[in-house]
Amino acid sequence: MKVGVLALQGAFREHREVLDGLDTEAIEVRVPDDLVGCDSLVLPGGESTVIGKLLVSSGLLEPVCDRIRDGLPTLATCAGLILVAGDVLDRGDDVGLDALDVRVQRNAYGSQGQSFEAAIPIVSLGPSPFPGVFIRAPAILDVGAGVEVLARYDGRPVFVRSGRLWAATFHPELSGDLRLHQRFLQEVP
Ligand code: GLN
Repeated sequence: MKVGVLALQGAFREHREVLDGLDTEAIEVRVPDDLVGCDSLVLPGGESTVIGKLLVSSGLLEPVCDRIRDGLPTLATCAGLILVAGDVLDRGDDVGLDALDVRVQRNAYGSQGQSFEAAIPIVSLGPSPFPGVFIRAPAILDVGAGVEVLARYDGRPVFVRSGRLWAATFHPELSGDLRLHQRFLQEVP
């Protein structure tokens, strides 16, 4: 199995380290050719507006969009979730992949200094809660009918899934807990 990690900006190295820890082959995706042969994809957190612009300039926007729509198993975290969201408040002219039927508000918990960690119960990961690292995190305000909510914090969805597309508002790659990536990889055919 080969996992592509979108490596245009943001926390892609940390995702790679988790995948290394799980003995999974991962390659950094920077140009369309890098996507060829990937069995799944990780869209990391970072700055969604910057990643959006780089998706356009690298020529990756369309191929990434097409592969996700074709059912490529994809894990999107934080800014990655903002990129796949169908509806982002105040998105303006910013680029989006429009792959997940959720309504999202960027920076919903405040600035970098208001970043926090919270124990998130995620039933499918077992009894001990997952350490959710929230950094300038978005909030999911609404989910469409086809979107399954896998975890909530403060009443709001923070981890969701629609078919093979998984998305978290927090940073599992910074938590030191490999369970979420492990679970995602188990579902890659
Ligand atoms: N606030 C960032 C954005 O809007 C996301 C932050 C993150 O990925 N940690 O893109």
